Amino acid sequence: MKKIAIIFTGGTISMTVDERLKAAIPAMDGTKIMSMVTNIDQIATLETVDFGKYPGPHMNPQRMMKLKALVKEKLAQPSIDGVVITHGTDNLEETAFLLDLTLPAGKPVVVVGAMRNGSELGYDGPSNLSAAICTAIHPESYGRGVLVVLNDEVNSAREVTKTHTMALDTFKSLDFGPIGIVDQQDVIFYRKGLYPSLFLETDGIEPDVHLLKAVSGMDSRLIDYLVTTGAKGIVIEAMGRGNVPPGMMPGIKKAIKNNIPIVIVSRCPKGRVLGTYGYEGGGADLEKAGAILVNTLNGQKARIQLMLVLALVSEIQQIKTYFM
Ligand code: ASP
Repeated sequence: MKKIAIIFTGGTISMTVDERLKAAIPAMDGTKIMSMVTNIDQIATLETVDFGKYPGPHMNPQRMMKLKALVKEKLAQPSIDGVVITHGTDNLEETAFLLDLTLPAGKPVVVVGAMRNGSELGYDGPSNLSAAICTAIHPESYGRGVLVVLNDEVNSAREVTKTHTMALDTFKSLDFGPIGIVDQQDVIFYRKGLYPSLFLETDGIEPDVHLLKAVSGMDSRLIDYLVTTGAKGIVIEAMGRGNVPPGMMPGIKKAIKNNIPIVIVSRCPKGRVLGTYGYEGGGADLEKAGAILVNTLNGQKARIQLMLVLALVSEIQQIKTYFM
């Protein structure tokens, strides 16, 4: 039987409703959660590791890197065949993508969560966990990069995003759907992940990187504030194909002059960003000003990538090579 390490970080999958607060908070450790995953010992040998009881929004870049170090350590053990990580769903895609970027593709790494807590009817923690374990032991999961499993769907960390505040099938790979499904104990892969994985070998991360959303009539004040307070990088969720209101251009130019990289993604949930438009603030104008256009990542994932790249290089031209 294969051996899987399960690392518990918190999230709704670990939560119950607190009597005093009348609201859900992390309460269950790994042993308690695993006691509800029936018959799993017939499928895999398991080692449970309690990393913490963090709600998703309490996971920060430093904790993500600590988690990465722990996952790496577990993967290096010859007796471990794969790692499953439980995580709050709110920012699960950010941690999953960070792990995807910083761990070499090899033994399966699967990130899982739950949309309903242990006090709710229809708690989906145990079924999601057993599906994640089935995925981690599957031979075809090897070398696919970090996978995200919920609702019996297997998605690649790079493609997946949380799309719904409460639905059990909230995790979607918006362009082409899941890469596979879990059917009882079997996993059926339909396709490869869309992108060759980028491997960023670093133990460092630059947390002072920010994400702004471009909206109609926006000016440069927020960018100016970030520049004067020493931000190290800015990701902008631009409009459509990658365009911003002209009022943002002075701030963007000033940031670039100060060697602060400006990374442009789209606030549209689907589709590529490209320098199609030449008017002031259009994608071609942004490129001319030195902004880095990133064709398919969403804002929160582009920020994760920029934070890691900034731990490796500091010049905008070098940074750009990591976003091709
Ligand atoms: N707010 C929760 C969290 O991210 C949601 C969840 O786990 O599904 O911790």
